[in-house]
Amino acid sequence: MTSGPHHDDLDIVDDLVPDASSARPLDEPKWHILIVDDDPEVHNATVFALQDIRIDDRPLHFLHAHTGTEALAMVKADDDIAVVILDVVMEHESAGLDLVRVIRKELGRSEMRVILRTGQPGYAPEMRVIREYDINDYKTKSELTRVRLLTTLTTAVRSYDHLKRLITGRRALSHIVESAPLLYAQRDVAGFCKAAVDNAAALIDENSVDVFLCAHRANYGSHLSAQPYFIVGAVGCFTAQLGRPLQDAGSAVALVEQALARREHVREGNSAAFYIAANEANPAVLFVAAAKPLSEEQSQLLAVYCVNIGVGLENAGLIADLNFSAYSDRLTRLSNRIGFVARIDDHLRSEEQGWTMALIDIDHFSELNDALGHQKGDQLLLSVAQRLSMALLPRMTLARVGGDVFGIFGPDEMLDPRQLMDHFRLPFAVGEYSLPVQATIGLVRLDEAAASDGIDLLKAANIALNRAKTGDRGRWHYYTSDMAVAMRSRLDLLHDLRLAVEHRRGLELHYQPQVSLVSGEVIGAEALIRWRGADGNFIRPDLFISLAEYSGLIVELGAWVFHTAVNELKAWDAQGIRGVHMAINVSLVQFRDPTFLSRMRAALDTAGIAPDRIELEITESVAMLDAEMVISTLQELKTMGIQVAIDDFGTGFSSLSYLHRLPIDRLKIDRAFVRDLGSARASGASIAQTIIRLGQSLGLQIIAEGIETEEQAQLLVDLGCPFAQGFLYSRPVDSASFINWWHQRRST
Ligand code: C2E
Ligand code: MG
Ligand code: MG
Repeated sequence: MTSGPHHDDLDIVDDLVPDASSARPLDEPKWHILIVDDDPEVHNATVFALQDIRIDDRPLHFLHAHTGTEALAMVKADDDIAVVILDVVMEHESAGLDLVRVIRKELGRSEMRVILRTGQPGYAPEMRVIREYDINDYKTKSELTRVRLLTTLTTAVRSYDHLKRLITGRRALSHIVESAPLLYAQRDVAGFCKAAVDNAAALIDENSVDVFLCAHRANYGSHLSAQPYFIVGAVGCFTAQLGRPLQDAGSAVALVEQALARREHVREGNSAAFYIAANEANPAVLFVAAAKPLSEEQSQLLAVYCVNIGVGLENAGLIADLNFSAYSDRLTRLSNRIGFVARIDDHLRSEEQGWTMALIDIDHFSELNDALGHQKGDQLLLSVAQRLSMALLPRMTLARVGGDVFGIFGPDEMLDPRQLMDHFRLPFAVGEYSLPVQATIGLVRLDEAAASDGIDLLKAANIALNRAKTGDRGRWHYYTSDMAVAMRSRLDLLHDLRLAVEHRRGLELHYQPQVSLVSGEVIGAEALIRWRGADGNFIRPDLFISLAEYSGLIVELGAWVFHTAVNELKAWDAQGIRGVHMAINVSLVQFRDPTFLSRMRAALDTAGIAPDRIELEITESVAMLDAEMVISTLQELKTMGIQVAIDDFGTGFSSLSYLHRLPIDRLKIDRAFVRDLGSARASGASIAQTIIRLGQSLGLQIIAEGIETEEQAQLLVDLGCPFAQGFLYSRPVDSASFINWWHQRRST
């Protein structure tokens, strides 16, 4: 096929001035123009007509194809062909139109412009085809003078450029949109920052770009540094500065600081700094340096993109913050319980033996806290944390696992309890105070605990700590495997006790008489609780009372005891047992119950029992704690007319100065001193004697408990003790037995 007779009609016009400058770089961008024609002359004429022409300051670069097939291969190989000047009829009649169809429909190259050129008007495609294939121009070769060719081409090139920008922009926008969920899904800040700069670099789509993201340390979760801004993500030449302060970013620093100061995007030369208002207080900046200045489109896209970064950074910062709170203690900045356990879990995976966990509990911290105020309490904790942290080797972990409990995990030899105790030898500085503080320590050796995870190990250490606490304060205790068994059975017991209290099941009161050593008369009885377990056997009160106190069950249990004892007293009245009082044990936990007094009052009113026939027994050590609260409750009891005795007197840490402030009626000499009466050890007698004299001087009544022999009774009479209680007279017995006992004693 030939292209027809008109091809020589290409006029050469000289009014377009070829470009004169010669000092153009070889790699400057050019418009790629593909000429497709089976007539070589057309190629030559076209190139000749257009050579040295620049459109919008870019030269042309020609590609030549002589068939539709050849042209297709070239189109596929070059994705930047701006315009195809295309012959319609080549190897076959529709070769040109076929090529356009493939370009548009199959390759989807919608931005490429097509100028159809044909020899004869008869070959002109229909308007439908022109529209469908988006053909820009259709000219017979005779119509295409040089000037017309140039204007047609210029329009086409500009239109290509415009479309291409639109498409790139749209692609970048969808890139931004698509990358957003990915960006937001990043859970750790480092991952987020890396994704953020990678995406930014991809957006700019240039061969060489250097990008970094710098963020306020608060967003980075880095609370410890003094430098405000850090490079948190980097691509290209800034990679080495990752994690460093902004100040290390060399020539970029000035522009970034300008953006931060002006709170806006700034550009200078080939660089730009995009201001990101992640949140008001902690902005960030995306810095970009390319080989040439960013285009307007690139800048706009990056500005849009930075909004995404801002939102994501805030999220990532929040997540870092949450992470910090989840694993760390805000006050001391040490690990918290979860962080501690996680650290131990890590260690357990390493299977290294010979490590120990220690739990260090500050004695009487809550009292110190109440007395000094919480701010001082916090300072004390900080002070302790600081001193303990000096004892650490790098591999060891110190954590605050509870309010006043610190955990240390390290090699056995580093956790000698005696050395740990030494840290508490000197007082701690708390504001203007210098506080002497003691600690109790529970320790567990990894090898002893058979713990499968950190939580188990912590439990074991806790068991040891509780064991140490039940001994004297200021002590330490190592965990042994039998402790866990004991702990387990305590928990089982607590479970059963809860059911017993809820359903009033297996609970009874027994009564032990109190007698006058002078007249032999029965003056009252002490009510003592009895709990019959599922197997029908009694469980000793020493075992479950502490559990009931610890769990708070004592409030319900104590109310039941009081109610039952008061009603028993009423029943005894009906049986003719007159003039006796009822001694009822109460625990301090009950004192703290706001309904304590009103419930007692109600029980007394309902039964019609005078309050002065009730004597509450509180233990000495209990009375010493929380003095003000105890004193005010005792005063109310006194106003009500209820009597109060100090139980187990002589065993607690007595404070005589305090004793005379307590509005009480009676001291009860502990049976330990009665047991020692008359024995070789004379101290028993002297203590009993001291208590009796003390009671007399304070105007208090005295009763001795635990009298088992006549000899003991006689010695107490000699010492001037008027009242007694013990197996010598009667063991604690149920109500029916008590009534029998009373009548029998009357009749003999
Ligand atoms: P406690 O109040 O000092 O009660 C006296 C304890 O000494 C009773 O033990 C009693 O059985 C025992 N006892 C009495 N006479 C003798 C004696 O001659 N020789 C010996 N070896 N022991 C004697 P029990 O009943 O096992 O009670 C133990 C503790 O449990 C009581 O000591 C009291 O602190 C507490 N408790 C008992 N019932 C209650 C209660 O209802 N509420 C509260 N909060 N505590 C209670
Ligand atoms: Mg008692
Ligand atoms: Mg007692």
